Amino acid sequence: MICKYLSICKILILDNNKVNLFVKYFFLFVVIVPFFLSCQEAKETKKYNVAMSDSEWKNILPQLSYNVLRKSFTEPAFSSSLNFNKKSGYYACRGCKKPLYSSENKYDSGSGWPSFDREIKNNIEYDIDYKIGYPRTELKCSNCGGHLGHMFNDGPRETTGKRHCINGAALIFIEK
Ligand SMILES: [Zn+2]
Repeated sequence: MICKYLSICKILILDNNKVNLFVKYFFLFVVIVPFFLSCQEAKETKKYNVAMSDSEWKNILPQLSYNVLRKSFTEPAFSSSLNFNKKSGYYACRGCKKPLYSSENKYDSGSGWPSFDREIKNNIEYDIDYKIGYPRTELKCSNCGGHLGHMFNDGPRETTGKRHCINGAALIFIEK
């Protein structure tokens, strides 16, 4: 009788352990792991109107433009002819052709990169990067996510006070 009772208890304990294990693994693999994976995915694959694979971008862009737009490189100062461009028109994203800046908002900052005091509204995405150890405001094309440059607070005081410091290789100029 006692033996029978003990064996029933044993089965119940085992079953309880099985239930506990099931609950643990359920939360681990069905709730927690997918949650972290989805967070990771959301961070890595933000959806843009223009989305191409890395090799597709590489095929359609000149090497320097690819390095800037897709790999966040910075072109050498004073290397872009657009730095000295004073014609009327607008500056579009070299990757997706979305108009990003108007010549009316271009000014000579003396920095060696095309500089603007404001963007064409809604066409620039603001992000933060820590690549050189401290936070900087990164500017991206809101249509394709291409890296353009950074924004600083030493722009013209009489207008916005902002300096959009943009790599010329990330832009194409469309004359009016
Ligand atoms: Zn773009």
